Amino acid sequence: MTAVVKTEAEPGAEIKQVPVPEPSPTQILIEVKTTSICGSDYHIYSWNEWARENISLPHIMGHEVAGEVVEVGEQVTRVEKGDFVSAETHINCGHCYQCRTGRAHICQNMEILGVHTDGVFAEYAAFESRVAVKTPEEIPAELASLQEPLGNAIDTIKAGSVRGKNVLVTGAGPAGLMSIAVARAFGAATITVTEPMKYRRDMAVEMGADFALDPGDDVENHVNEITDGDGVDFVAEMSGVEAAIRQGLRQLTPGGKMAILGLPAGEVTLDLNNDLIFKGAEIEGITGREMYETWYIAKRLLREGIIDLDKLVTHKFSLQEYEKGMKLMEEGRCGKIVLST
Ligand code: NAD
Ligand code: ZN
Repeated sequence: MTAVVKTEAEPGAEIKQVPVPEPSPTQILIEVKTTSICGSDYHIYSWNEWARENISLPHIMGHEVAGEVVEVGEQVTRVEKGDFVSAETHINCGHCYQCRTGRAHICQNMEILGVHTDGVFAEYAAFESRVAVKTPEEIPAELASLQEPLGNAIDTIKAGSVRGKNVLVTGAGPAGLMSIAVARAFGAATITVTEPMKYRRDMAVEMGADFALDPGDDVENHVNEITDGDGVDFVAEMSGVEAAIRQGLRQLTPGGKMAILGLPAGEVTLDLNNDLIFKGAEIEGITGREMYETWYIAKRLLREGIIDLDKLVTHKFSLQEYEKGMKLMEEGRCGKIVLST
């Protein structure tokens, strides 16, 4: 089969012919219909520090996926041949403290599809049947692979109980853009976005933001104006940039909350006294998605047309054209990029 394979410990990847994987007794094999590119795929492609530490070569890239089940291992009962599925990419162990107390998304022994295992930028992919999520027909194949990153946004916005509240989203990459749509769907009163790239500020408005500002603008003044000087109730940090985390935290009303999905490149410095402790504010880290509640929510929002991710997909390529996608990711001139096999 054709696959996008990372073979060398340097930037880049190759299209190669590799054997179709054989599913283990607990795995399924799917014929991949669509995949989408995530920021972490770009990190693996560009071979950044995180990738160098986490990826063993050779490695089939990709993890956001949708496809048809074509083979099931002998112990598999949940899904059958012909089912159309997507995949939770966090493969939890099922027996650690967190897994046994309803918090599988913070499993201590987590394996990640396309990071610790071979991925899905290929014609076929095999993975544990328990992470397969059946996807209804009403969700087009082109959007089905986006359920996984949508789950990140749902988890982040859920942390804010945003109904009727003033929300600030810092960073309008694909994750931030999805969180805007989710915050709108969950009934936020106002949504302000900070994002340095004009292209993405425009997309933020398309996705439902009320205000899209450059972080260099007078964000504080804007927040004061729209909140009568109170500050925002909730900040969704979707950039992973230290300055954005600090700026976001400063806009919080006392007792407000920030949820951080963005992954900073290293340690960050915060004014905990003034921006957190004396304010009685709260920060929650978001990792992955709650399993599997966010999947049920994503399915309902997409199936009922409450969230329209069509606008988020700015580019569609074939798997062979993946490098065009990587280039766009590098420049940031894109929303989500979908690859079809
Ligand atoms: P992205 O890099 O495409 O988006 C980040 C955006 O932040 C960019 O558009 C960038 O221009 C913008 N930005 C830069 N400086 C800013 C500033 N000072 N203020 C506001 N915005 C600023 O990434 P993405 O794919 O949208 O993902 C967002 C973040 O979430 C990344 O850090 C990613 O690694 C992280 N992530 C974390 C998890 C998790 O499980 N915690 C899962 C998925 C993604
Ligand atoms: Zn576990």
